Amino acid sequence: MSASIDIDLDAPGRQVGLVSIDSASVPICSFAHGDGPTLVLTAGVHGDEYEGQVALAELARELDVNDIRGRVIIMPMVNGPACRAGTRPTPVDGLNLNRAFPGKADGSFTSRLAHFIETELYARADYAADFHGGGAILHFLPATLFVVTGDAEGDQRRQDLAAAFGARYCMLFGAKTMGVEVGIESAMLRQKVIGIAGEYGGSAEISADALALCREGLRRLLTHLGIIATPAPELRQPELIDVRPDDCYVIAESEGVFEPLVRLGDAVRSGVPVARLHRPDRPDELPLSLPARCDGLVMARRSLAKSSPGDWLFIIGRPA
Ligand SMILES: [Zn+2]
Repeated sequence: MSASIDIDLDAPGRQVGLVSIDSASVPICSFAHGDGPTLVLTAGVHGDEYEGQVALAELARELDVNDIRGRVIIMPMVNGPACRAGTRPTPVDGLNLNRAFPGKADGSFTSRLAHFIETELYARADYAADFHGGGAILHFLPATLFVVTGDAEGDQRRQDLAAAFGARYCMLFGAKTMGVEVGIESAMLRQKVIGIAGEYGGSAEISADALALCREGLRRLLTHLGIIATPAPELRQPELIDVRPDDCYVIAESEGVFEPLVRLGDAVRSGVPVARLHRPDRPDELPLSLPARCDGLVMARRSLAKSSPGDWLFIIGRPA
């Protein structure tokens, strides 16, 4: 058995319980009442990303099951061991949950958790939203994101969900970005779930603005889907920002101390220096200057000064 759960996800009412895998348990909340769609909300896939964890736990406390039509399943700290430790990978097996999908029923902890999310949560869902941030090493301009599949109708429905959530920016991802396969979004796609994710801050801290966006976005999502019967919010069409091309990424070419020369949200031009890498251990050496490789908007920057070859210093998104 991949995981055990002590509530019935197909039963009506408000239920708060635990998903258990080996000796670790993770809270899960289910709200079901009347006819309507099923929405799955997750945060804490990476344990050092906090806005979503706080906003989802808050929603689970405040939501009155009698006010909803449909079903809302909430896991505010879906990767419990990583969230408790405040780490990106899961401490028990060192794996990144977002790279573990589709997972295996008989795999290690992280693999079984991925399998549970895909086969027990997304198999029941019509819609999903997953909450991320930059973790300890990156800081994002708050933005929703979705994977562009080329299926025009599905892509439009994902974009509508982002417009319902209401963040100013929405990043366009591919099935692979910088050689890294998307994880939880691919699980949503395999299970025919219309889903979005989002990067709402970072530096392993909570930003008040990003948390406010998550709180408001969740309420807007619930009313947009008709799960809460107040008038649906006006869609806020986001500025679509493409982060799929390789030249969006400014990468450290050597060891050094990273000095950012631009801020999140700045518009930059290709060729303009955006970072310096200093070598204080070699006082005679001039810092290495790194330019933007495309015209675009600064969507993320590295949070840590100390940098090694291959580290992402900036993500410059291209307005689509
Ligand atoms: Zn994350």
